[in-house]
Amino acid sequence: MQHRGQESAGIVSLNEGQHIIHRGLGLVADVFKEPELNRLQGRSSIGHNRYSTAGDNQLANAQPMTASLIKGPVALAHNGNLVNANILRKQLQEQGSIFQGTNDTECVLHLMSHAHGPDFVTAIKKILPQLEGAFSFVFLTDKALIAVRDRHGFRPLILGKKKNDNGQDAYVVASESCAFDLLGAQYVREINPGEILWIDDQGMHSEQWAQVGKLSRCVFEHVYFSRPDSIVFGQSVYESRKAFGRWLAKESGVPADVVIPVPDSGVPAAIGYSAESGVPFEFGIIRNHYVGRTFIQPHQSVRNLGVKIKLNPQTAVLSGKRVVVVDDSLVRGTTSQKIVRLIRQAGAKEVHMRIASPPTIGPCFYGVDTPQKSQLIAANQSLEQIRTFIEADTLAYLSLEGLFAAVGEKSGAGAHQKNRQNSFCAACFDGDYPTPLFE
Ligand code: AMP
Repeated sequence: MQHRGQESAGIVSLNEGQHIIHRGLGLVADVFKEPELNRLQGRSSIGHNRYSTAGDNQLANAQPMTASLIKGPVALAHNGNLVNANILRKQLQEQGSIFQGTNDTECVLHLMSHAHGPDFVTAIKKILPQLEGAFSFVFLTDKALIAVRDRHGFRPLILGKKKNDNGQDAYVVASESCAFDLLGAQYVREINPGEILWIDDQGMHSEQWAQVGKLSRCVFEHVYFSRPDSIVFGQSVYESRKAFGRWLAKESGVPADVVIPVPDSGVPAAIGYSAESGVPFEFGIIRNHYVGRTFIQPHQSVRNLGVKIKLNPQTAVLSGKRVVVVDDSLVRGTTSQKIVRLIRQAGAKEVHMRIASPPTIGPCFYGVDTPQKSQLIAANQSLEQIRTFIEADTLAYLSLEGLFAAVGEKSGAGAHQKNRQNSFCAACFDGDYPTPLFE
């Protein structure tokens, strides 16, 4: 799951009732070398990659978070973001809790330490109604692996199964199905919104801890965040992205000689755009795979350098051409501006920017690191102003209707399921936040 976060990584394993913990700042391959992996023995484990949506990039915020409670040791990995974390933190501090880090997840451990009950599952069920916002959790206690999803289903969480070395069933829980492919595990189903599921020596158990609320599955998982080879919310991310591209071509086609993606995030949408428009697909920009994602680097200066090292335009494909360039999203606009310049420097006659999602007009409070409103170009400038800023000949975004129609489509079949949009959160694109916001 490295693509989901590159600031810190951690694994906690359970070995004969004891937790073995290793966490560090950086990429998985930097944090886990042979000695650390050898130390992480046990029958079960949880892991996490972090990119901060709340709290700074410091070791105290690295996950899984761990604590030693009266009920025993507990480790917690959280995907999502609690919108009432500041209120909870203040209440807990007033009651005497001492926080180690600055992230929202730590509140959950403190709430659990105050919750009475014979076992962890009972304690967790008691505290969950106090949490507002997005959470897909995995807990590891001294007896069980516990998976929980919020009532709205903001962030994905899925269950898989595989035979372990003794031929017994082993269970796997992950954000995305590409993890199962790697492990040779079979996809079983989604953990349901409002479900708590636990696996212990007696097998697997499940309950609804809450009734399903307004379904609000994050559409940005399909736009950008998930890997294209994953099934997320029951549908192929690759197929969704191709459908975004097809809709984009239907809505905003333009005479052109070539369609190129911004690699890698724009590739499936550009394939869809090309298929729909009949304009040939080419790789006009080649990506260097040995430098990290630019966006995730926190400082603008580092990001600026990143784009140059990462993307190289090909004169042979671009020179003298009318070029459609497809990217998955446009947030601050700085990436698009650099890309348009690169394409022109390689001799393109016209550059038409096509964005395979609607204008990003609002920050995400549910676990995607979108900049604040003042930095979102589409929240502050008109389409024409953005076009001027990125220096493109034309600019078009996918419409909201196109976005919802595309995620409603059955993989490739083109059938548009009505009212499907009601099950997605697209607050970053339409400003419709499904929960109260407490900031
Ligand atoms: P910008 O320069 O801010 O317009 O960046 C847009 C680029 O960042 C697009 O190419 C996206 O693929 C990528 N992107 C969009 N949202 C995110 C995010 N939350 N985290 C990391 N990368 C993103």
